Parts: sequence; C-alpha cells; structure tokens
Amino acid sequence: MKEADYIIVGLGIAGITFCEQLERYGHSFVVFDTAEGSATAIAGGTINPVMLKRFTPVWKATEFFSEALSFYQNLSNKLNVPMVDVMPIHRILNNVLEQNNWLLASDTKKLSPFISSEIFTDENPSVVMPFGYGSVLQSFKLNLEKMLKAYRRYLLKKNCLISEKFDHTKLVVGKNEFQYENFKAKQLVFAEGAAAMHNPYFSIDSLIPKKGEYIIFKAPQLRLKCILKGAFFIIPMGNDLYKAGATFAHGDTSYTVTRKGKDQLIAAVKKMISCPFEVVDQFIGMRPTVKDRRPLLGRISESKPVFFNGLGTRGLLMAPLLAKQLYDYTENSIPLSEEIDINRYV
Ligand SMILES: Cc1cc2nc3c(=O)[nH]c(=O)nc-3n(C[C@H](O)[C@H](O)[C@H](O)COP(=O)(O)OP(=O)(O)OC[C@H]3O[C@@H](n4cnc5c(N)ncnc54)[C@H](O)[C@@H]3O)c2cc1C
Repeated sequence: MKEADYIIVGLGIAGITFCEQLERYGHSFVVFDTAEGSATAIAGGTINPVMLKRFTPVWKATEFFSEALSFYQNLSNKLNVPMVDVMPIHRILNNVLEQNNWLLASDTKKLSPFISSEIFTDENPSVVMPFGYGSVLQSFKLNLEKMLKAYRRYLLKKNCLISEKFDHTKLVVGKNEFQYENFKAKQLVFAEGAAAMHNPYFSIDSLIPKKGEYIIFKAPQLRLKCILKGAFFIIPMGNDLYKAGATFAHGDTSYTVTRKGKDQLIAAVKKMISCPFEVVDQFIGMRPTVKDRRPLLGRISESKPVFFNGLGTRGLLMAPLLAKQLYDYTENSIPLSEEIDINRYV
C-alpha cells in the first residue's frame, strides 16, 4: 500500500494550482488524470480582469489578477518553460456610444488601473475598426499546451502522476482516510471540472457545463501582435495561426464540434479582419459553470472528499488564489467565504 497526504483527481488548472500549494508546504500527493475533456487544455488562455461586453471589472479583479500573474511567472521559472506572454487586449469599439462608455468606465476607480483612458486607431490594415479600440492595460496570455505538458512531465518525474481514469466505485471512504486501489491518503480532492457531473459524491445540481467552440485559422497577412476582441476573441498563436472564439452553446453538453459553431465564428472573424484566412481546425471545451457564477469549493456537508470546482469562464484567472484558500481550509480549518463554499447549494 502506498501512502500519501492527498489523492487529487484531475490535473486541469484546479489540480495544478492545488498541487503547487501542497508542494509549497511539503505534503505528499498522487494525482489521477486522463486529460480527457480538459477545459484547461483548450481554453483561450487570456488572463483578463475586465468584462469586455459592458466594461465592468470582473469579480475580485485586483486580487485574482495579481495572484495569477505571480503564480504563472513562478511556475514558468520553476519548470523552466516560458508560458506567460504579456499581451494587450484591444477591444474593438462598435460605435460612438461604445466610445463614450469606454471613456466613462476608464474614469472609474475600479477600472482605471485596468483600461486605457484613450481610444486608439489601429495601424494594421487588416483589422476592421472604424471606431477605434480601447486597450486593456493589464492582461496576459498563457501557453496552456506548454504549461500542461511541462507540468505532467514534472509530476511523472516525481512519480506522482497516474494517467488513468479514477473509478469512483473503487473508492473506500474510511473514518480518517481514503483508500483507492493500492493508495491510501488522509485527504482527497476532486478537481474534475465539468466531469464532476458523473461523480457520485458530487451530490448537488448547480454545475451547468457550458460548451465553447474555437476555430483555428491561418492568416499570413494579419500579423497581429495583440489579442483582438470583437464579437469573439482572436488570439495570436504564432506561425500565422490564430484562435477565434469561444462560442457559448447553452444546453449542448456533447463533446463534438458543430457546423453552427464554425459558421458563427467565421462570420464574426470576417467582421473583424479584412485579409484572407483559412480555417485549419476546430475544437470544443466544457466550461464548469455554476448557477450563480461563483466557484464551488470545500466539502459537501459532513461528507469527506473536498471539491475544487465551478471555475466557470475565468478559471485560469481565479484558480491560483482559490487554491490558496482551499489549502487553508483543508489544512488550517479556515472557513471558506460563503460565496465560494459549495454548501450554499446543499
Ligand atoms: C472554450 C473555453 C475557453 C476558455 N477561455 C478561458 C480564458 O481565456 N481565460 C480563463 O481564465 N478561463 C477560460 N476558460 C475557463 C477555464 O478553462 C476553466 O474554468 C478551467 O480550465 C477549469 O479547470 P478545471 O481544472 O476545473 O477543469 P479541467 O481543466 O476540465 O480539468 C479537469 C481534469 O480532470 C480530469 N478528470 C476528470 N474526471 C476524471 C476521472 N474520473 N479520472 C481521471 N481524470 C479525470 C480531466 O481529464 C481533466 O484533465 C475557458 C473555458 C473554455 C471551455
């Protein structure tokens, strides 16, 4: 029997940020992850503290953003893999009303640190923006493929990653420990993203997975150096490739790409850029969203496993700080705030 302080199920951003807390304080752990259906693997990777639809700050923008920036920079250094790309987001303004609203928002205390107080015009002839753009001053982009690959490699080297499906029916929950096959641990953390829907211990119905589709297109003439936000994001990936998305498909929980999603994205890209482009790929991800758009952390009532879920549409931004709060909860018995405690749904 192998013993560890923690068993973690899931190695998306929730799993990674929690593992980092455990390492920091010297705990042993083993992670089960198949990487199947990972939202983290296909996310846009933008760390953006501003809601660009209505020009409002995201919930706890300042706290989440500063923790996220230092977390990803430290992880980059630790793994010796550059994964943080500081890149502005240019929000295309659609009319005079949006120009006025942007300027008004930039004058508020909450948003002035994050958005430009000026409206700019783009020199790039391939970008369509007759009313100019506003710039998000603090934002960055993560190379998620590099991050996930490097982190898996790191855990494999430490001998604490098992690339297998965790079968909940084989879990034995004891009084003071969890037993799973030949592993024994004091704590168990489920960080399964949208797959928690199939976890029999996840006995609440507030998780509503929201499917998102992206297309990847090639556009040699575009030469974009920033993230562009119109109806969707256009995110540079290097080698003349761009990611455009992501859609919100309400009520569709299938893991398959759709013609509708592709058409919607192509139509939006055509409005944002004027140069030719060719779609080379399309994929989907499932956002683990919650009814009240807040994370789901902690134990359900008196049951034993801990959940780190409900990261929704901005999990990459929020996970680093939430992992700290979850660690304080599991190790130091510091209560979670009511707005993120999973028990608000019990
Ligand atoms: C299309 C799209 C775009 C997004 N863009 C952004 C963005 O730009 N910025 C941002 O901040 N957020 C973004 N998000 C949100 C963000 O990606 C998610 O909130 C976050 O990745 C969720 O992380 P997670 O670790 O909870 O889940 P996941 O990343 O889904 O990880 C769960 C892991 O658990 C594994 N797993 C589950 N069950 C089992 C089991 N039984 N056995 C073994 N392994 C298991 C899965 O294989 C997976 O690897 C986006 C999401 C989507 C879908």
